[in-house]
Amino acid sequence: MASSTNQYIKPATAARNSDGNLSIGGCDLVSLADKYGTPLYVLDEKTIRSICKDYKKAFEKYPKVRMMYASKALCTGAVASILANEGFGFDTVSAGEIYTVYKAGADMSKVLFNGNNKSYDELSLALELGVGRFSVDNFLELALLNQIAQANNKTADILLRITPGIECHTHEYIQTGHLDSKFGFDLTQVDEAIDLILNEYKNLKLHGLHAHIGSQIFETGIYPDEIEILAKEISRIDKKYGLTLDEINIGGGLGVKYTQDDFPPSVYEVADLIVTKLYDVIEKYNIPEPFVFLEPGRSIISTAGVTLYTLGSSKQVPHGTKYHAIDGGMADNPRPSMYQAKYYAEIANAKETANSEMVTIAGRFCESGDILIRNIVLPEINEGDILCVYNTGAYNYSMASNYNRVQKPAMVLVNDSDAEVIIKRETLDDLVAHDIIPDRLKL
Ligand SMILES: *Cc1c(COP(=O)(O)O)cnc(C)c1O
Repeated sequence: MASSTNQYIKPATAARNSDGNLSIGGCDLVSLADKYGTPLYVLDEKTIRSICKDYKKAFEKYPKVRMMYASKALCTGAVASILANEGFGFDTVSAGEIYTVYKAGADMSKVLFNGNNKSYDELSLALELGVGRFSVDNFLELALLNQIAQANNKTADILLRITPGIECHTHEYIQTGHLDSKFGFDLTQVDEAIDLILNEYKNLKLHGLHAHIGSQIFETGIYPDEIEILAKEISRIDKKYGLTLDEINIGGGLGVKYTQDDFPPSVYEVADLIVTKLYDVIEKYNIPEPFVFLEPGRSIISTAGVTLYTLGSSKQVPHGTKYHAIDGGMADNPRPSMYQAKYYAEIANAKETANSEMVTIAGRFCESGDILIRNIVLPEINEGDILCVYNTGAYNYSMASNYNRVQKPAMVLVNDSDAEVIIKRETLDDLVAHDIIPDRLKL
């Protein structure tokens, strides 16, 4: 089975150059750190395009597949432009994400609005900007969206988000009759929703069903099981209501390789299973070939990104851990402290030393839990060395905060030996820009 880009720890273009420094996209990482400062997010365009091509090629056998990038993994104008250029639509979850892809010039008919508590203002904006599909999550949203559509003389094209009774616990999954999830309609609530759409909510048009099972999925069998449930539901709805739904959205979730111990499946393997299952259920339930939407986020963008840090202070606990501190941490990458997520890293600058040591990379934020990587073997570290942490493209910048009032890092896009800033580094003035000191308190 052909391998795909999500199965590699490093970006497709990662190499050691003749100086012994790491390079990505033909750009020397030490020079990038020098020029743009650290922490620095670096994003490799070739890697993004390569995984996009993997997905498109893998699903060639089923032409009704539609790719939607799950923006929440990393949503910036430049990233949206690249994905739109690759023919992808966007799964969005907020006015901010919708506005970002809109400003980037995305085809709004290929945008889906998803989320369990969309506000009146967000739904209005989405309708106004021509968002192609709303994945309606609950009864309140059905009423709200219909009301807004009616007031604007429009029809909102919707999917129903359902909870299919499959849950992924990273690398393992369980199937149950119903699930205690905050997202979507339980299967027992679908008929009530359809009755409302058909009889009361005249400004909603239902096209299909949507589900999303989890994230960092390694278990390939989960997708065929999900398709079985969605197809069965579509056939049941067809029989009961004479309503033919021809869209299923199976969500995202495919995993990536954060460390040498992770073995995410190939996109080609997953696609084969999905397509085989699709033809199987089309025949079994005698339903028309549905359009199938996929919403990968992490697997599209994670591998393309690395973060560069400068190593600073260190501490050897007597008979204990050797800590080396970096100039970033939980505010630019909250995943280790939130989920005990593991990362792989290398020293980016050339090292003469053959000595190596087992160290723990500590963040600079005021929390004992701000540890980026526990127990990693690296060449003997000196102050000023540049650390390159791999697979930080997804859920790093998008989850970043200003904790400790530290400025968010810049992001550069590298390609063919060029580096371009795609997110400016925040300044100290950016940090205070939204502060208001009431006159009576002014010093
Ligand atoms: C988060 C999410 C995705 C993307 O998940 P990844 O694990 O990043 O691929 C897709 N669809 C929905 C509905 C989501 O909530």
